[in-house]
Amino acid sequence: EPISLVKIVEDVITKLAVTIKQKNMEVYQTFEDGFPMILGDRDRIEQVILNVIGNAVKYTPEGGRIGIKGSSENRRAVLSISDNGIGIPKEDLPRVFERFYRVDKARSRDLGGTGLGLSIAKQIIEAHDGTIVIDSRYGEGTTVTITLPAYL
Ligand code: ATP
Ligand code: MG
Repeated sequence: EPISLVKIVEDVITKLAVTIKQKNMEVYQTFEDGFPMILGDRDRIEQVILNVIGNAVKYTPEGGRIGIKGSSENRRAVLSISDNGIGIPKEDLPRVFERFYRVDKARSRDLGGTGLGLSIAKQIIEAHDGTIVIDSRYGEGTTVTITLPAYL
């Protein structure tokens, strides 16, 4: 049965609401008209989105902004999650989907986590015939873009 990424995003933001509020962050969402439903394992997809939005919250300082955009392209749902946080150095970017890889171990140790989130996310998204890519500028911010086949 088709599942709604809009609803999943809403549920994830509810789960993160306390932290978002504590850090005085703003979350902007725009979903274009006709943003498609998808097929798949709802719990797994929610796990992916919780990690990606959770990372945006975790790696963005107080007062930061998160932008969530949904669009459709070539029969795919495209979901992008951007933040204006600490970013990822260019040399680390190719490795963030590796298991246990974390940028700057000393820095990330205080923030908690294992470095597994993005590697699990990639496995789950690829098992759904999707793609996940990360783009980042160190000191400026990060964008993660997920595409999944649209349910038409
Ligand atoms: P876990 O997800 O297992 O709790 P984690 O968040 O450290 O731990 P991943 O989600 O796999 O692990 O992310 C890997 C690393 O990529 C992070 O440790 C962090 O260094 C970097 N990273 C991920 N997302 C962002 C982001 N939005 N901004 C800056 N760095 C990020
Ligand atoms: Mg994570």
